[in-house]
Amino acid sequence: MHNRVHGLLEAAAETRPDALALADQDGRRLSWLEMLEAALAAAAQLKAAGVRAGDRVVLVFENCAEAIAFFFGASMLDASAVAINARLTTAELDRIIAHSDPSAILFSAASSEAARAHAGHYGAKDVHGAFGAAALMPRAGASPEPVSEDGREQLALLLYTSGTTGTPKAAMLTHANLIAGAAASAEVRGIKNSDVTYLALPLSHIFGLVTMLSVTFAQSAMRMEAQFSAERLYNALQEDVTLLPAVPQMHAHLFNYARSHGKPRYDGHKLRFVSSGGAPLDPAWKREAEAFYGLPLQNGYGLTEGAAGVCATRNGIGDADISVGLAMGECSLKLDLDAAGATPEEGIGEILVGGPQVMKGYFHDPEQTAAAFTEDGFFRTGDLGRFDDEGRLHIAGRTKELIIRSGFNVYPVEIEAALTEHPDVVVASVVGRSVEGNEEVLAFVSAATGSSVTEQELKTFLHDRLAPYKRPARIIVAKALPAAPTGKILKAKLIETFASELDVVV
Ligand code: ATP
Repeated sequence: MHNRVHGLLEAAAETRPDALALADQDGRRLSWLEMLEAALAAAAQLKAAGVRAGDRVVLVFENCAEAIAFFFGASMLDASAVAINARLTTAELDRIIAHSDPSAILFSAASSEAARAHAGHYGAKDVHGAFGAAALMPRAGASPEPVSEDGREQLALLLYTSGTTGTPKAAMLTHANLIAGAAASAEVRGIKNSDVTYLALPLSHIFGLVTMLSVTFAQSAMRMEAQFSAERLYNALQEDVTLLPAVPQMHAHLFNYARSHGKPRYDGHKLRFVSSGGAPLDPAWKREAEAFYGLPLQNGYGLTEGAAGVCATRNGIGDADISVGLAMGECSLKLDLDAAGATPEEGIGEILVGGPQVMKGYFHDPEQTAAAFTEDGFFRTGDLGRFDDEGRLHIAGRTKELIIRSGFNVYPVEIEAALTEHPDVVVASVVGRSVEGNEEVLAFVSAATGSSVTEQELKTFLHDRLAPYKRPARIIVAKALPAAPTGKILKAKLIETFASELDVVV
């Protein structure tokens, strides 16, 4: 087993030097040997900028080959990468720079206007990147972290969780965490070196990054997009793509695109694996996906702190089943039935994860780190779930998203699933709002292109499907909902975004 993530790249370059590693949206194609050469060049540039072992290197980018080269380049120096989506604001970036204390910041400007703008703002100097424009800014005064020979100790990556429910924290992922995550993902996808993985998931998110590593691990190829586009995905599926890992919202946007453009349901493709992970999967989407792709849809449950997927379904799961299946790789899963939000009589407790994928802790945050682990070293996911008779895990919601309405537990995921059963609803998201000592249920939906569905119609639709205490007080119908770069809905921003509409009493 490798001790550093760049060991995966070296192995791919040695075994399959001329095989395709990456094709990007501009039509560039790079072999594994070219990827390794680019990573070596990136390491040399970082070294020249003063990066030492134990340092952090902030990478500001949207998916591009340069970012991959600098990620591996940092590993070669025993520095750790801090992967940041270029679409963050300057204020957000400032906070992350102050918190992560990097010795250099790299802006991968080739495929990102946002990264170019940040580079200009910080006055970073252009460097000759292997594949396109990049700018590097050394930063004085950073203090290195201890360095360890042991891949289970040595930090490879800091990832700020996307903050869908609160303040972002920086998960410390070691080399061993990422390699275990990559191996587990490669295993559940059954990747062969002839596969082509479609990668529109951002590499600045754990799901995208570990997908890239699983492709490297399997020495296969990836087709990468700087940003997700349903149209480009639709077209790519006609070509060479064999594996499609995605978040549920990507599938929903693809079906909406296909419907509104009168495109046929999908057939004659080379796709052999399609998955949904990173956010709750609605049963309606699962059915639609399976009809659209003509394949079983794998549902995977994962999180930043667990180095991406920790649990996934395998083929042969019944149609109506939206469990997240069985533990992946060497992960172990159990429930805490005494945790906040648990309903022990229904077998619902907080999901705890253990094993080699579980992060080391939160960077420079001993308090949050201590609160995140049980005494026996399991990570508290903040998610609620239950096991069925066959040992498969079902996600019931999140402890922090739980709505308590008149003493009853309301799990937003159930209401979201009921709403997406409506043919005109593309995405639904449900949160609670405190009113006079109680909580009310608020729903937000994005409607299909061309739909004129109203709040009242959706309320009538839910009437027979949900008990009165679960029914939303308001259903806001919008063109789009605020989302993280993965497409995941930013629940913390919903009320603020639609504040003016919520104040109108109907
Ligand atoms: P924060 O933790 O700061 O709120 P985040 O929720 O976006 O940010 P991530 O690590 O990106 O953090 O997402 C992990 C979470 O996504 C899980 O804890 C879980 O709530 C949810 N999730 C992931 N996969 C699934 C799935 N298949 N079904 C239901 N929920 C899922």
